[in-house]
Amino acid sequence: MKALVLEKQLELSLRDIDLPTIIGPDDVKIKMHTVGICGSDIHYYEHGKIGQWEVKSPMVLGHEGAGTVIEVGENEKILSVGDRVCIEPQVVDKKSKEYKLGLYNYDQKVKFWATPPIHGCLTPEVVFPGDMVFKIPDHLSFAEGAMVEPLAVGMQGATKAKIIPGQIGLVMGCGPIGLVTGLAALAGGCSKVYIADVLAEKLKMCDHYPDLIPVDLTKENLSEKIMDDTGSWGVDRFFECSGAVKAYESIFTCCSPGAHVVLIGNNAEPVPMNWAILFAKGLEYHTVHRYSHQYEPSIRLLSSGKIDVKPMITHTFKFDESVEAFERASEHRPTDVKLQIKIDEEK
Ligand SMILES: [Zn+2]
Repeated sequence: MKALVLEKQLELSLRDIDLPTIIGPDDVKIKMHTVGICGSDIHYYEHGKIGQWEVKSPMVLGHEGAGTVIEVGENEKILSVGDRVCIEPQVVDKKSKEYKLGLYNYDQKVKFWATPPIHGCLTPEVVFPGDMVFKIPDHLSFAEGAMVEPLAVGMQGATKAKIIPGQIGLVMGCGPIGLVTGLAALAGGCSKVYIADVLAEKLKMCDHYPDLIPVDLTKENLSEKIMDDTGSWGVDRFFECSGAVKAYESIFTCCSPGAHVVLIGNNAEPVPMNWAILFAKGLEYHTVHRYSHQYEPSIRLLSSGKIDVKPMITHTFKFDESVEAFERASEHRPTDVKLQIKIDEEK
């Protein structure tokens, strides 16, 4: 089947490759419609690896996918042919202790799409276990369906933050994950969420979201602004989504006593920690690695309109333009938020 294949670092081709086509009793086959390009796809393209995961053989990219069910296995009871769906891109081992405890995102044996050596979904048809495939309602587009994957990361962050209604949040980094985290924190009860970045073009996205308050770090002093606005209290919930070491400093200058700090941005370098402030303020730390059980709540929030991801989809490419799409993504234009590839041109 034709697919977008990462041959090795910096080498992509749209070519035929052997992929599973026969479904097992618990599987469904999906005709892919739209696939979003994730930061991790771009990172594998640019660097050939992320942490412990290294591209050692050709791999199909893409893990943010939505499409239509075209075949169901004999054990499948919920999905039927014709259902519009999005796919949680991890195949879990139901015998694992992590799975039994609801922590399947920490199971090292999880097979996650487009994480070496597992092929992703930038291809016209995929076979996948039915229990990780979720229906989307007719009024959501496939493009929105493909946004459930990054949204699930933000939802995991908001869930870990244990938000109390009315609290004030701060997100560091106004990329796609920062934005979905801010939106999930608002949906989870924050009254407003500051979102800080060094690129004014990225912060422009806040024009679409009145309760996301942009802070341009090149023009404003973040902690002064936060302390002025909160009567010197600080933010109750802090989300690190930038991956920048410098962003961690704001934990100690912007958080209120008892604040929860959620670390989502991937950081390769060791980060200095001010333990004295952490102790004195009683900060609680949480980390996010992918997500578990976030697809259904994410779809409900998109369905109800409480979260709107449409403004974030800034450009859509055709499947034939997949290589160009990745070249464009690796330009890292600050005005490109989410680039998607539309595989099925019929709809
Ligand atoms: Zn992703």
